[in-house]
Amino acid sequence: MQMTQATVGDTPELEIALLRRGLGQRGGAVERCGACERAMLIGERAYEYASGDLRCELCRDRRREDEVQSHVVHGPAFGNSIRVIDARPHRRSAAGR
Ligand SMILES: [Zn+2]
Repeated sequence: MQMTQATVGDTPELEIALLRRGLGQRGGAVERCGACERAMLIGERAYEYASGDLRCELCRDRRREDEVQSHVVHGPAFGNSIRVIDARPHRRSAAGR
């Protein structure tokens, strides 16, 4: 079997285009710390301040003012493909034990 020249030539362009698109989508969803500019990890707690600044767990202590609120960083798929369903069994009463 012989590969045609056109297929070999087109593949890197397609790969680069797909890679760029993937990076763009990922870059838009990422939350960054206002101090160290590190992309926050999924599951990490992000701290928000009255000025709108966002700080990571590590930079939070360096700031004197108290944060207004905090939230857990979610991945880009959260809310689209991940649905949290409470599947815990119902507890009838604690006296039955
Ligand atoms: Zn930081």
